[in-house]
Amino acid sequence: MNNVSMDQLISLCKRRGFIFPGSEIYGGLANAWDFGPLGVALKNNIKRSWWQTFVEERDDMYGLDAALLMNRKVWQASGHESTFSDPLIECKNCHERFREDQLPPEKKCPSCGKQEFTQPQQFNLMLKTFLGPAEEDANIVYFRPETAQAMFVDFKQIVDTYSPKLPFGIAQIGKAFRNEITPGNFIFRTREFEQMEIEYFIKPGDDWNVYFEQWLAAMKAWMKKIGIDQNKTHDLEVPKEELAHYSKRTIDIEFDFPFGRKELYGLAYRGDFDLTNHKQEYFNEETKERVVPHVIEPSFGVERSVLAVLASAYQEDEIEGEKRTWLNLPMRIAPYRAAVFPLLSNKPELIEKAQEVRKELQGAWPGFFPIAFDKSGNIGKRYRRQDEIGTPYCFTVDFQTLQDNTITVRDRNTMKQERIVIAEARKFLEEKLRE
Ligand SMILES: [Zn+2]
Repeated sequence: MNNVSMDQLISLCKRRGFIFPGSEIYGGLANAWDFGPLGVALKNNIKRSWWQTFVEERDDMYGLDAALLMNRKVWQASGHESTFSDPLIECKNCHERFREDQLPPEKKCPSCGKQEFTQPQQFNLMLKTFLGPAEEDANIVYFRPETAQAMFVDFKQIVDTYSPKLPFGIAQIGKAFRNEITPGNFIFRTREFEQMEIEYFIKPGDDWNVYFEQWLAAMKAWMKKIGIDQNKTHDLEVPKEELAHYSKRTIDIEFDFPFGRKELYGLAYRGDFDLTNHKQEYFNEETKERVVPHVIEPSFGVERSVLAVLASAYQEDEIEGEKRTWLNLPMRIAPYRAAVFPLLSNKPELIEKAQEVRKELQGAWPGFFPIAFDKSGNIGKRYRRQDEIGTPYCFTVDFQTLQDNTITVRDRNTMKQERIVIAEARKFLEEKLRE
């Protein structure tokens, strides 16, 4: 297990273009972060892996990409408008605002140390705006605080169109917004974030425990696939007295982030609460009965996935007295699957050959098999640069290549090199990808 600090992670993210502070030239915007070229590549690969695993590889799942702005009645029916709030208090001395439930046990102001606060006020977390030119009550809409409600609201459309048999699920990846009182810890808690959520509908009489366990196992298997360190993850069984009134069981999958153990993903059995709220039913063709399906909800945060993946992958070692920083990313989510170098940057014949090798490796669909190309600085420096962004393999074209069509391939983790023929290189990568 590695121990990485937030400073190390944030510094690497900024230095190599994974994640930048948002609006930086204007002094930034509190807790807004932008994903740079490598960050968006990593994030997209994580989302693609999730979609492939939970939607494309299953026969019981329906994908959805609903509008972010929804009818206000959705949030009235779901209870968000009346109850989706945190207790807000203000320090009477320094006027900082906090969540009452997040104050330290001794109830001292985290900013100034005084202990006098205003009475708590319920502060609704939904971000509000107006549709159309008039800023009046009738035009209020909310940026969705979760993707989940769309799956309940569109339940009828999916059932009417595809007539799925229970159990089946609806999955969605998309942005959500929460006007958090105290965001923080880099991309861990931000006001704008992205979720990957599944609502899995089961027959009311079925044993929900069975599906709950299946989903827990499926979540764990996927976490392993994207390289989340299993030694750093823990299941927190939410105690009965803390469960939402409709839930019989909830597990928070926690992760040992550099700033402490915090929730990474969640799995909840929600009973028939959601579909009942929206007055939705399912007609069972076999029994001719109308039922309200029950729901199992696996919920994943995209930014938290990125953070947990980076914290799991971050490594430092020493080579010949020099420190090496590298990311032990699985090939399926690394920004680049491999890199290609010409040995020297001033020999056109080597550069031309290296470009050819790169094309060969990318295959017919370059976008699906991103390969980096680097010809600046010496080979050692180029290896370090690729190590630092998690590129698993580097191929080098040298003078021998021009004679016998072989190239060296260097492994990020072991730093060992071997010579293979160019024609085998693509197959080499595809085999590694399947491992
Ligand atoms: Zn204070």
